[in-house]
Amino acid sequence: MKRRQFVKHASALPLAAGLISSTPAANAALLPEFKWKMVTTWPRNFPGLGMGANYLANLIDQMSGGRLKISIYGANELVAPLDVFDAVAEGRAQMGHGAAFYWKDTIRAAQFFAAVPFGMTAQEMNAWLYQGEGMELWQELYDPYGIVPHACGNTGVQMGGWFNREINSSADLQGLKIRIPGLGGEVFKRLGAEPVLLPGDEIFHALEQGEIDAAEWAAPYNDVALGLYKAAKYYYYPGWHEPGTTIECLINKDALAQLPKDLKAIVKSAMRVANQEMLAELTAKNNRALQHLLNVHKVQLCKFPDEVLSQLKLASISVLQEELEKDPRAIKIFESYDRFRQQAAAWHDLSELAYMQARDLT
Ligand code: CA
Repeated sequence: MKRRQFVKHASALPLAAGLISSTPAANAALLPEFKWKMVTTWPRNFPGLGMGANYLANLIDQMSGGRLKISIYGANELVAPLDVFDAVAEGRAQMGHGAAFYWKDTIRAAQFFAAVPFGMTAQEMNAWLYQGEGMELWQELYDPYGIVPHACGNTGVQMGGWFNREINSSADLQGLKIRIPGLGGEVFKRLGAEPVLLPGDEIFHALEQGEIDAAEWAAPYNDVALGLYKAAKYYYYPGWHEPGTTIECLINKDALAQLPKDLKAIVKSAMRVANQEMLAELTAKNNRALQHLLNVHKVQLCKFPDEVLSQLKLASISVLQEELEKDPRAIKIFESYDRFRQQAAAWHDLSELAYMQARDLT
């Protein structure tokens, strides 16, 4: 009798005090809730990139049972597309979604965490970030700005871009005004071109109006969305300048510190999932979009001549060397990056590359 009374008492007490409920949902309701803003460099709902931001926010909402809700702001809705880094650093938004080369005027060495000409592919980059020193170096670089970065998507190898004239030799790059961000732009400059940095939503107008002669954006699925095929007819490959561009999620360090442990783990895991999901989506959709461009819009597909690629590669080596002089923080990052690239490439030469060549044999 006594024991039965005790059991009854013990189970009734917390319920009566309102501390514990019998349903998990009601328990979650007692935990603190957070509302964050995420600013992005992409137009709202932009295929692939903007949708990647949506995917991340939805995933965090679901995984946290609604305890961390993230409102997304597309380009220019809260801040200008290239001000995302500053907005997160200053706490005007808790989160940002973009790519590290967009902030090169603030933090030059950041470019190595977006894309390096003739550098690592998506698979190699993720291996460096998660299994090498990449993530640690990236976080160390952004720490003085009060930002914690994470990989949150990858485009895979991009296209070389849209040109309104043919590129038959490196001499044709002289005076070419081309929209291209990051280190690829510096390489083009070395060969006499004039690189211009424009956010995605300004590219079509500039190309159509003849303010620029060429523009690179991403790969077919994303490029169709910008309508670039209506503004230039030659579509060049390969994307030597962006062989596996990492899309970046920025988190304000103070905002992250306020989250309880489980939400921190949810945010981190959701970014890993979003990183993988974007690459899968673009791999699935790029060729379909390319066929549409070729068959319906009669776009002319062109490969950069080997001479042009050789010159670009040669120029890339000296551009990377100069970057290390311009921003000493890049030295340690590039040493680690290049060491990892060499060993990954050695393996991939006799795995991925040899296999793809074998697959293409007739
Ligand atoms: Ca690009």
